[in-house]
Amino acid sequence: MLKLENYQEIINKCSHCSYCQATCPVYLEDLLESHVARNRLNLINQVLILRTMPVSQRFREILDRCLLCTNCTQTCSSKVPVDEIIIAARAEVGKGTLGGLKGFVMSKMLKQRGLTGLMSKAGSLAQKIGVAREMPQLASKSFDQIYSGTIPAQGEQRGRVAYFVGCGTNFLYPDTGVAVVEVLTRNGWEVVIPDGQVCCGIPVIAEGDLAAAREMVTANLKVFDLDSVEAVITDCTSCGMMMKEKFSKLLDADDPLQEKAQALAGKIFEVTDFLQQKGLSETPPALDKTFTYHVPCHRGWSPTVADAPRNLLGSLPGAELRELEEPERCCGAAGTFFMQQRELSESIRSHRLEQIEASQADTVITQCPVCRFYLSAGLTSQQVTHPVILLAQAYGTVQP
Ligand code: SF4
Ligand code: SF4
Repeated sequence: MLKLENYQEIINKCSHCSYCQATCPVYLEDLLESHVARNRLNLINQVLILRTMPVSQRFREILDRCLLCTNCTQTCSSKVPVDEIIIAARAEVGKGTLGGLKGFVMSKMLKQRGLTGLMSKAGSLAQKIGVAREMPQLASKSFDQIYSGTIPAQGEQRGRVAYFVGCGTNFLYPDTGVAVVEVLTRNGWEVVIPDGQVCCGIPVIAEGDLAAAREMVTANLKVFDLDSVEAVITDCTSCGMMMKEKFSKLLDADDPLQEKAQALAGKIFEVTDFLQQKGLSETPPALDKTFTYHVPCHRGWSPTVADAPRNLLGSLPGAELRELEEPERCCGAAGTFFMQQRELSESIRSHRLEQIEASQADTVITQCPVCRFYLSAGLTSQQVTHPVILLAQAYGTVQP
């Protein structure tokens, strides 16, 4: 799966309706027809499947200038999985969005969860080769140094969940992980954090490195005991999309872990979505905040993930949700895209920043650590955080 030869028939389903045009952040920025999904698909078909055109530099640029935001996939009238076809094409031309040495540093950072010595070596190598200035700062203490193992429910136990801790939370924003544990346990959920988790693999599939992604999928599937938990919780919409929609596709149909990948897809929830669906056992007393919500692009895997923060926080006494104009507009970050396509990313982000500033909200919430970093880096007076952190603040378990 995720091999280009499997997509030829699917590419031919494109009806050229152009619904994808209005939702592509890259096209909206540069207005180049070649960047609209339907034209990317046609080009991939001609160059890599029918072989009527060569793999030119321009073709590589067109492949690279895609955020894999999935906006086209979500709006496609023929349900063509454009993002997967672009990933498969990147794999075919063997061209990642990161160069060799930078890629090496990234893969060390992604695969070695919990090995903090190796992390700091990778961090200093990143400094030397100039990646560090393009990357958010590593937290002084990673999440796995704060919480591990099983954390019991507070009060009467309602059930047991496993927590998949993404790289963004583990290495950059452990405050999100702390809030996840505190809010879940306060609501009666025992939280198990399985040892041996690694990155979900989304940064490497974006590079077209399917073999590395398969290694990560396999490592992750092995550590989760799905029968013992009601749900697997993530705080990151991109990790959630990866586990729900891509894990199974990265494995061969007869892979011994295929069944488990499909079972995991049925159990994965973003944390606020899970809390919304199960209900809070105790409503927080108040939240003295005006906030706005940047909806992450990778939301298509759950029909309710974008409602959850609005519903959970918006109704609290003292809270005021100020909806953005175009709440779902992309911020331009997209994993490592902002490092490689800096000018384009900054240009995409500029519209989002203007909308956030116009909202005059104190705080911006979003369920993606990369959006959090990239929006924070562009804002001067507004704080960007995860909605579960605001919920923890409302309970008084985390200080604002
Ligand atoms: S994934 Fe996003 S950036 Fe890429 S073609 Fe689709 S809408 Fe455009
Ligand atoms: S929305 Fe889908 S079917 Fe319509 S042009 Fe775009 S890719 Fe083709």
